[in-house]
Amino acid sequence: RAKQEGRHSFCFFTPEMHARLARNLQLVSALRQALNLGQFEIHYQPQVSIADGRIIGAEALLRWRHPELGTVSPAEFIPVAEDSGLILPIGEWVLRCAVRQAKAWLETGLAPLIMAVNLSVVQFRHPDLPKLVTRILDEEGLPPEYLELELTEGVAMQNPQGAIDVMNNLHECGIRMSIDDFGTGYSSLSYLKKFKVYKLKIDQSFVRDISTDPEDKAIVIAVISLARSLGLKTIAEGVETAEQLAFLRNQGCNEMQGYLFSKPLPAEQFEALLKRDTD
Ligand code: C2E
Ligand code: MG
Ligand code: MG
Ligand code: MG
Repeated sequence: RAKQEGRHSFCFFTPEMHARLARNLQLVSALRQALNLGQFEIHYQPQVSIADGRIIGAEALLRWRHPELGTVSPAEFIPVAEDSGLILPIGEWVLRCAVRQAKAWLETGLAPLIMAVNLSVVQFRHPDLPKLVTRILDEEGLPPEYLELELTEGVAMQNPQGAIDVMNNLHECGIRMSIDDFGTGYSSLSYLKKFKVYKLKIDQSFVRDISTDPEDKAIVIAVISLARSLGLKTIAEGVETAEQLAFLRNQGCNEMQGYLFSKPLPAEQFEALLKRDTD
């Protein structure tokens, strides 16, 4: 019997699992060197006011190009970076670059942009986070109100009381927070009220079929009205069509981000767009 079970558990390790493990190991060892080898780059995606079409913010999105592995999607390498702890130095690098870029754009006098940076759960749980963020802002000379940290709904709800404390700390430092991928987690409304956030990012999965799927439509309407009654701003992610934009505008959504306006761009291209925008 024991023998049978032993054999059974051995068989449980499928070829797919083996392939995934091998890929993970390959990614971890490549990620370990990626920072030093300068393989990372940040692209910036405009966040646009729906009322007047102006660029009012940018989301920093990490890009990784490896000579053999090619371009690896953050959806694949961020979880690997989190599991291996590498997300801490990588996340700090992203924060530093994005803050430095925000400062540079602020000095051009083109438009006062808010720079949004994604925060991993590992960074969010690190006790030194508020200290680290304030130090970077200080060193780069960016006033805290130009930085926004994006936290996914799932992360905030894993430990809501802990999240409230961290958010309070960051808030006291003058840093803005938003909830990313909103609607995909299970936020209790009572917590949402206690979270020191100023913006909800409506997840792109609801925006995609907004014009055809009655449930998605209902969810987006509900999120916008919930946000309004709590005094929060809303931004829709993944806006690709004029039809989606028209719907969002009618519902009173404040901002949009998506391919309809622009894909995430290298810094120089973003700046060119900004110049065109302010002309
Ligand atoms: P996210 O923060 O929700 O970012 C939005 C994602 O949607 C980005 O994918 C963006 O390129 C994509 N997107 C924007 N507009 C459209 C659109 O109109 N249509 C479609 N189909 N997609 C659109 P990306 O850059 O591949 O990033 C995926 C996720 O990886 C991000 O989701 C975020 O969770 C994570 N990520 C990216 N950069 C960082 C980082 O520096 N730190 C951390 N912790 N996570 C990051
Ligand atoms: Mg985000
Ligand atoms: Mg998102
Ligand atoms: Mg996402």
